[in-house]
Amino acid sequence: MNDLKDLIYFDNAATTKVSESVLDAMLPYLGQIYFNPSSIYSASKHAKGAIEKARAQVAKAIGAESDEIYFTSCATESNNWAFTIAQGQNKQPAKPTHFITTQIEHPAVLNTAKQKEKEGSQVTYLSVNEEGLISPDDLKKSIQENTALVSVIYANNETGVIQPIDELANICKERGILFHTDAVQVIGTLPVDVKRQNISILSLSGHKFHAPKGVGILYVKKGIPITNFLFGGGQERGRRAGTENVANIVAIGQAVEEAIECMEAKNEHIKKLRKLLFDRITQIPKVKFNGSMDHNLPNIMNFSFEGIEGEGILLHLSMQGICCSSGSACTSGSLDPSHVLIAMGLDHALAQGSLRISLSKYNTEQEVIRFLEILKPTIEKLRAMSPIWKP
Ligand SMILES: *Cc1c(COP(=O)(O)O)cnc(C)c1O
Repeated sequence: MNDLKDLIYFDNAATTKVSESVLDAMLPYLGQIYFNPSSIYSASKHAKGAIEKARAQVAKAIGAESDEIYFTSCATESNNWAFTIAQGQNKQPAKPTHFITTQIEHPAVLNTAKQKEKEGSQVTYLSVNEEGLISPDDLKKSIQENTALVSVIYANNETGVIQPIDELANICKERGILFHTDAVQVIGTLPVDVKRQNISILSLSGHKFHAPKGVGILYVKKGIPITNFLFGGGQERGRRAGTENVANIVAIGQAVEEAIECMEAKNEHIKKLRKLLFDRITQIPKVKFNGSMDHNLPNIMNFSFEGIEGEGILLHLSMQGICCSSGSACTSGSLDPSHVLIAMGLDHALAQGSLRISLSKYNTEQEVIRFLEILKPTIEKLRAMSPIWKP
């Protein structure tokens, strides 16, 4: 465990540390208050009450009502469920269900859409421009009479690029089509108000905002008929059976409340770190910023370095105690370049030379300075060894 001391953790889009206060809030539900929330005796009411408190905390954080919030095991499950719900809306079963999504979704949406295609549905994958933004006009043109769902990632996990969610959701509202957004990366960074923004279904994941892994949220606007996801007992109003993960649910309630409370201070802090990183990294020759200057989360930054592979950068940084990523943790391990960067028009070589830096409120200016001191010589060294580098 000694190698975990003094790590610089710049991979917060992959997962985040559980905060002390979240840990404090959840631990009693692994210890003294271990009861099954569905039991009859009064002790179990403490567990039941804690779940309902967390549901209210989540609802408040996104402008929803408690009975529109469902607890799941992760955002992957939430995204899968969103598609299942939409499929249940198909009013003309003779026709296949049509889904619209984008080329830059997280695998949790992309592979759900691909599975629906295998099962006979139709899917349109909207393209993005070089800044990573989809066009609302493209969405309008893609809508068909059998379109059941439009699913668009709120802000991309590899680049931090923020989509024009309000405009997209309004188009769907006018056409009477469900609008789902994978909002995993935005909670605690952008304000979310599902009512004002006309969002029908929304997915969240606890471990991206300082709750533990293994708990997610699905918001479903009241009035939308819900296809059950897990069949069994009466938990989650019978729609997602299985004994509740009480401690994790308590944690996500606490974490979401803190994320909203800290949002402004956190963003201010992170914007300073971002500026420092951006200014210094863009001074390195032949580096490309992969993102949007005007529509980007402050805490996620993605760069490509000509002449070298992202994996090489990551390994060298790792040897010096720095945790970064080349893109989605869920696609790493495969040698394919990022589908997100390819969709933004990068060639394979550049898409393979990418580095994602993702910050949290725990990162400091000292860490940024140390990182920058290490990054520049690392890039120079790798380029000097690279057969394809042309200065
Ligand atoms: C991490 C992430 C997910 C998956 O969340 P899990 O809770 O790990 O399933 C989905 N979408 C985005 C945008 C993510 O960043």
